[in-house]
Amino acid sequence: MSLEGAYEHDNIFAKILRGELPCAKVFEDAHVFAFMDVFPQSKGHVLVVSKTSRARNLLEIEPQALQLLILGVQRVTRATQAALQPDGLTVTQFNGAEAGQTVFHLHFHIIPNYAGVAVGRHAQGGMADAGELAQLAKAIAAQIS
Ligand code: AMP
Repeated sequence: MSLEGAYEHDNIFAKILRGELPCAKVFEDAHVFAFMDVFPQSKGHVLVVSKTSRARNLLEIEPQALQLLILGVQRVTRATQAALQPDGLTVTQFNGAEAGQTVFHLHFHIIPNYAGVAVGRHAQGGMADAGELAQLAKAIAAQIS
């Protein structure tokens, strides 16, 4: 899918938001939802999405929804730092298939970086163990403030 196009209501993240697909939830408020990436690029890879916007990418999101989303990203990034004590944190997002985007509901990646540990390639890793993801989600959630 290119940068142009309509929001697809059956994308994976829309289904997660509607509770039609399972996820390891980290955090939720009225505006944002955070959950573990099932193909993590590193231990503690979290995704954060808007619950209200139907933007497919950064170009489309409404200013107020973006403000609330990025504040949620900061909040979950801080919790990830507190829970996992990584040496760095990469926060990123992709716009359009050409950029590497594979799910077309705007989302931010929070990817912890650990010294001496290579980060996996985007959208090319193996599926994580569900129990391990649940534990990581719980540890990060416990640090949300
Ligand atoms: P992007 O390629 O930037 O659109 O990112 C989509 C991300 O969603 C990738 O990092 C995938 O590993 C992740 N992903 C795909 N399916 C699921 C799922 N069911 N639950 C959680 N994360 C997923």
